[in-house]
Amino acid sequence: MYVYADNAATTAMSKVAVDAMTPYLMQEYGNPSSLHSVGQRAKEALESARATVAQCLGCEPREIIFTSGGSEADNQAIRSAAFNGARKGKKHIITTAFEHHAVLHTLAKLEKEGFEVTYLDVSQGHTITAQQVKDAIREDTCLVTVMYANNEIGSILPIGEIGAICKEAGVPFHTDAVQAVGHLHINVKEENIDMLSLSGHKFHGPKGVGALYVRKGFPIQNLIEGGAQERSKRAGTENIAGIVSMAAALKDACDHMDENMPRVAAMRDKLIAGLSQIPHSALNGDPVNRLPGNVSFCFEGIEGESLLLLLDMNGVAASSGSACTSGSLDPSHVLLAIGRVHDVAHGSLRLSLSEYNTDEEVGHILKVVPEVVQYLRNMSPVWRDLQTGKRQYIL
Ligand SMILES: *Cc1c(COP(=O)(O)O)cnc(C)c1O
Repeated sequence: MYVYADNAATTAMSKVAVDAMTPYLMQEYGNPSSLHSVGQRAKEALESARATVAQCLGCEPREIIFTSGGSEADNQAIRSAAFNGARKGKKHIITTAFEHHAVLHTLAKLEKEGFEVTYLDVSQGHTITAQQVKDAIREDTCLVTVMYANNEIGSILPIGEIGAICKEAGVPFHTDAVQAVGHLHINVKEENIDMLSLSGHKFHGPKGVGALYVRKGFPIQNLIEGGAQERSKRAGTENIAGIVSMAAALKDACDHMDENMPRVAAMRDKLIAGLSQIPHSALNGDPVNRLPGNVSFCFEGIEGESLLLLLDMNGVAASSGSACTSGSLDPSHVLLAIGRVHDVAHGSLRLSLSEYNTDEEVGHILKVVPEVVQYLRNMSPVWRDLQTGKRQYIL
């Protein structure tokens, strides 16, 4: 048995999404900007996809800009608010310490350009409170950007409360909702969200396509200059097949959310209960307000990378919070931000489920993970030191 439990990294495309895409690769390949009927049919498909996405978020179709994915949407949202703010002499931005790199690296660049960024502490309960946002808002704050749900540890943040605070203070509010869209009920109007990023491949749609919701009237700026596509806010011939497919995947996810998510959450809870039995382990993330598919643990005395390789050999595709794959030996910024010390953060494991996983697969994970953790601990000099008392347990 081989279990794919890395759905926070990406998902398999659904049949619905593949079927929706195929005609637009083969017969309906027109350019929506063309005046002939082939182009006009592509244009209709584009606008119909826009209406579908808008419906799922509770906004108007004209408030949706299609992008190349979540990263581009995050960049455009943040850059726009920064540009608008700078024109009014407002150069302060509020975010959290555990955002995705698409947000954090954009903000790091802005800091070099003279912006000041407040990184809200997430070590209390592995989340933030709306009060923290309220306390951080200043006269010169031009943006609050807070993720809807964390991709590594699964915490769901109080977005509705933060939206209300930002509205009252007159500060633009962006949320990176890439992990939440298609998995949680979202209504951008009720939650007072000005900008929201989403990405197709996190809800069984294709990779390389996403969207940015921008509240009507918010002055959004271009990241990419060129033609007049997307109301002149995102140039380039539209990825029609990808957009149509993403919209179909999103509609499917939203239509079946109420049946799928409780089932996914039940599998998650079974995994959390089982893995909590492993001694010297700790659950990462908010235990209550948590993504239905997210299971994140730290195990003391092991290396996350060896754990992942052995799990793969034993039929489980998972992920660790560590960034070692990208050539750095630093543990994940998310785990450090929630207060895990380096040694503990290195022994992390993230299992992320989707509705395609089964109870049988959960059983397989629950058999394999404790065995592999024990195997690695038996070989680990750190574990020996912990057991002989040369080193003190942290977890
Ligand atoms: C995956 C992800 C992104 C990036 O989306 P892409 O479409 O891969 O660019 C951004 N933010 C979060 C929280 C994510 O999980």
